[in-house]
This record gives sequence, C-alpha cells and structure tokens, in this order.
Amino acid sequence: MEKKSVCKLCKQTKCLQKSHIIPRSYFKSLKSGHGQLVSIICDEDSIPKISNVDPKESLLCRECEQFISVNYERYGTRLFKSGHGVKRKKSYIELSGFKYTEYYLFLITILWRASVSTLDDFSNVKLGTNIEDLLANCIQNKSIKIKTSLKLDHFIRISVLRVVDSSGNVDDDIIKKMMISFGCERGDSVKNGIMYYFMVDGFLIGYFLSTEKDIHKIRTFKMYAQLNNRPEIKIPKAEIKELKQINDALNSAIIQCQKHP
Ligand SMILES: [Zn+2]
Repeated sequence: MEKKSVCKLCKQTKCLQKSHIIPRSYFKSLKSGHGQLVSIICDEDSIPKISNVDPKESLLCRECEQFISVNYERYGTRLFKSGHGVKRKKSYIELSGFKYTEYYLFLITILWRASVSTLDDFSNVKLGTNIEDLLANCIQNKSIKIKTSLKLDHFIRISVLRVVDSSGNVDDDIIKKMMISFGCERGDSVKNGIMYYFMVDGFLIGYFLSTEKDIHKIRTFKMYAQLNNRPEIKIPKAEIKELKQINDALNSAIIQCQKHP
C-alpha cells in the first residue's frame, strides 16, 4: 500500500502521483528528435545551472492530475502546434480562436505547481499560502474572477514572447530545446512588483505580480506582450540578444549545446 499524503489542490488525503512541475508533454517534444534537452535553472543570485533532469514531485492525487491535464494542459501545450488558427508572421505569431481563460489558467497551473513544490529547482518561487490558495481556487473553478470587478489577471499579468534569433547565430531548433526553469527578477526594471519567468518550447513566459495598492492603476496597467482576453491575439517575437534577463542563461545553454551536439 502506497503512503497517502495531502493533495495540494483538493486538500484530501490520498495516494499522490509523481507530478511534473513543467508539463510532461513539453518534455516529450523537447526530448524527441536530435540534440539533448538543456534545462537551465537561474535566479538573480546564482549562475545558471544546467541539468538534463525532468523534475517530478508527489503533489497531486490522480483526480486532480487528470483535472489539470484535461482542462488546461491539453489545450495549453498544443496551442501553438496545431496548424489551426496559427499564422506565423515575420515579427509575431497570430492566433485566432484563442481561449484566454483556459490558456491563462494553464500558465497559472505551472506557476502554482512551482510555488507549492519543495524541489530545489523551484525554491525561488514562493508566493505564500494566501496566493497559492487563491490560485488553487481559480484553477479548480476554471475562473479568473476573484470577486465583483476583480480578476486574477489584474494582479498577475502574464506575457508570452516567442524567442528568435534572426541573425541566425542560434538555430531555432536549439532555441526550442532550451528549457529555462523559473527565474525571478525584482528591483529597478520591474517597479513595485516581482517578475517570474521561464522558457519552454521557444516561448518565454513572464508572470508579473503587482504590489500596487491603487485599484484603478491595477486594473488599467498594461505590460509589453501581455496576454489579452481576445479571440485574436498576437504573440510578439523577441530577439535573444534583447532579452537581458535570460541572456546569461541562454549563453551558457549555447555553450553547453555546442559541447554536446
Ligand atoms: Zn486532489
């Protein structure tokens, strides 16, 4: 008989599954084909660490794992893959028929897992119990509404960028195989808040947590490449060289890739 523990999502005592923090289907596509998966862990205090591991932890019961998989991951991990509604332009990717709440909450499930995780790889993501519970509620209810006229995306803004290198120095296949685990940025460049980011499948995902107290400012603030609640959206492309938060991480990844082609 397996040992039972408390599921982080439904809070019931059950047999828990070995959950992936970053969805497993990403790793499947990363590991397929040539070259190796390069996983980079970075934060502002340490130099990037490179690993090939696919970290797992007992976090969720079978039902909750299934719930997240069916309601969020199937959509989120395939969104940019299906030819359906995806148009690749020079400076952006255009999506039609975009399901905002589903995709936004899919990205929230990853941030939430990283926060509730006790693995070293995610030790810099600590949102605190109140925010973790708020996120868990939104995930379970499939809704971003917190209360009348207040929504989760007023407090946590998510940006999505497709990382490219138009100079051709870094092959797009290498960019797609780079996996940058959660990094964290505070201070000058991000006023009054915290930015967490990770990169997978060629996309750089940023979460900006506002600490602004003024409700009007909270609701009207927009950030660059922010996901919009519209059926048609544009995901901008960004040059590797211009993404200063992750440049060090990317540089070490490139060196690592060249050492192990
Ligand atoms: Zn559960």
